[in-house]
Amino acid sequence: MPNALQLVEDLIDVHVRNVSERENFVKTKKRALFLPHCARKHMDSQCQAQFSPELPSYQCAHCSPDCLINQATTLGESKGYDVYILPGGSCVPEILKKNRYEGVVGVSCSQELKLGGEYLKLMGLAGQAVPLLKNGCAKTTFSIGSLEKTL
Ligand code: SF4
Ligand code: SF4
Repeated sequence: MPNALQLVEDLIDVHVRNVSERENFVKTKKRALFLPHCARKHMDSQCQAQFSPELPSYQCAHCSPDCLINQATTLGESKGYDVYILPGGSCVPEILKKNRYEGVVGVSCSQELKLGGEYLKLMGLAGQAVPLLKNGCAKTTFSIGSLEKTL
C-alpha cells in the first residue's frame, strides 16, 4: 500500500479513537502530556533542555519563544498537566508505571500514536492524540490550536 494511503488510514484510526475516548477522557483529573523531542526548534546543543533519566524526559529551558515544544509545555502546565518531552515511545510504559495518571494526551507521528494507543488500552487509561503534521524525526510540527482544544 502506498505510504500516503497508510498515513491517511492511520490518521482516521487516530481520529476514531479520539472520538470514542473523549467522554472517558474529560472525566479524568490527573493527566500527563507527552510531547515528541523531534518537534523541538533545535535538535542539537542549541536546545537548552536537559534530559532527566529518572523521569525520563527532557526538561525544556524555554530558550526559544517560537519553539513548539516550549509553547506546548507552557500550555500543558498552565492546564495542570505533567509534561514530558520524550526521546522515544519506549519511555511511555516507564512513566505510566511510575505515576498514577488517569488521562494521557500524546503528540507524535501516527505510527507512535498507534503503539501508544494500544498500550493505553491495555492499561485501561483514557487517551487523546494529536498527530504530527510533518513527520521525519526532526523539525516536525503539530498544531498548537489542536493541542489546546484537546487539552
Ligand atoms: S525552547 Fe525548550 S525544547 Fe525548544 S529548543 Fe529551547 S530548550 Fe529546547
Ligand atoms: S517522527 Fe515519530 S518516530 Fe520520529 S522522533 Fe518523532 S515521534 Fe518519534
